[in-house]
Amino acid sequence: MADKKEDPRVCVRCGHVGGENDSHCIKCGAPLINKCADEPGLISDGCTHVNRPDAAFCAKCGHPTVFHKEGLVPPFQPFHHSIMIQR
Ligand SMILES: [Zn+2]
Ligand SMILES: [Zn+2]
Repeated sequence: MADKKEDPRVCVRCGHVGGENDSHCIKCGAPLINKCADEPGLISDGCTHVNRPDAAFCAKCGHPTVFHKEGLVPPFQPFHHSIMIQR
């Protein structure tokens, strides 16, 4: 069996490699784990599913992910290239 290596926690915003137990980038404050943004609250137990770094929405429940909320994952774009609107 091929050994499955955990991806290093690389900050998707600045490229800083975080420590094993870091949940946020120490350089820019971006989250390092793309958790489901459905936090436990009054009306739900939350999801907190950990998604792949490029996931804009939770694979489990469809809520936006933390990366998506932080603007770290580009929003959905049509398959063909469209003009990027940069501010
Ligand atoms: Zn960073
Ligand atoms: Zn979720």
